[in-house]
Amino acid sequence: MTTYQAISTPIIKPINGLCNLSCSYCYASGLKKRTGKNRMHPEVLKATIDFFCHNQNDIEFIWHGGEPLLAGIDFYRKAVEYQRVWEQKGRKITNSIQTNATLITFEWVNFFTEHDFFVGVSLDGPKHFHDRVRYYPNKTGSYDNVMRGIELLRRAKVFNGIICSISTVDYQSPKEIFSFFIKEDIKKLKFARVKDIGHCNDVSSLTILPKQYIDFMITIFDLWLELDNPEVEIRDIQSVVSLILGGNKRECIYMGRCDQFVTVYHDGSIYGCDSFPKTNVLNFGNVMDKSTLAKSNPRLEKFQEILRKRKENCRVCDWYFICKGGCAKDCYAQLNSIKPINEVCENLKRYFEYISVKIKSYGFI
Ligand code: SF4
Ligand code: SF4
Repeated sequence: MTTYQAISTPIIKPINGLCNLSCSYCYASGLKKRTGKNRMHPEVLKATIDFFCHNQNDIEFIWHGGEPLLAGIDFYRKAVEYQRVWEQKGRKITNSIQTNATLITFEWVNFFTEHDFFVGVSLDGPKHFHDRVRYYPNKTGSYDNVMRGIELLRRAKVFNGIICSISTVDYQSPKEIFSFFIKEDIKKLKFARVKDIGHCNDVSSLTILPKQYIDFMITIFDLWLELDNPEVEIRDIQSVVSLILGGNKRECIYMGRCDQFVTVYHDGSIYGCDSFPKTNVLNFGNVMDKSTLAKSNPRLEKFQEILRKRKENCRVCDWYFICKGGCAKDCYAQLNSIKPINEVCENLKRYFEYISVKIKSYGFI
């Protein structure tokens, strides 16, 4: 078995991180000229699909940006056409796309409906929070256009929820944010911590600490319990609750399988998960290299070895059954660190403990 078989879930960036927005915490700043150089060539697209369909039966393609809609609808028509060849061979393929929703039109919605895409949207809560961080290059807020896009997606029943980034702008307002989403009838949510992941603009003024994020999440958990509406899904909380109750619903951060997720850039190069900066030590090859699948990759092997050692080190932790050593990027100071960062770990433990005690007090276990 080659190590490449471990890689199963591609996060594809077909337009090299370009975006029509210029959000303050993002590395993709402003709409640059969309030259051929920045776009994935159809040959690379075909090679990407072949690469990931070759060895597995169930494949999820995650389309990301910058803003992935900038690749144009014909690009995705080609993608599903190439995928169809594999579906005819029995592969089960799903497509998820994460968009800022400002470019959604009826044409896009019809395409997503026809091809069963799951469409996730980035929305940072109410207008006065969202527009402070998610704006166009001329600093006009994007909120109104995002909500218009969500409405179109919702009517077509292809809307797959929200990723809401939590920064210094709003981490102290969990109640307001939660109430906003409930009022807007948005029931699938993920809250992400804004952090300096090494390849963004200057985000230091927006970055929040692990403690601030976990405090936010604990309040969200309480609000969610209080609401008592099973239709409201908060991805991270659902994973933790499910695992405490003996289930197996796992977000990537609780899988201990960070080697499974890779980023494929517009030129076909394969790097580690998108949370990592694009760095040589996590360059695992290129989908255009026909021999890639037939051989192992020393950098991927090294990364897998680090993950294995981290898990060994974490196995004594009471929360290992949930955490599995945590996010390979968030929980460790360096790529080759084996021991997790204390500050992250302590807060994770506090979070798991809080949820566990609360669930017990409700008599669920
Ligand atoms: S909480 Fe910390 S020690 Fe425990 S499994 Fe997670 S990263 Fe490892
Ligand atoms: S590095 Fe973090 S975000 Fe990336 S796959 Fe691992 S857990 Fe998920």
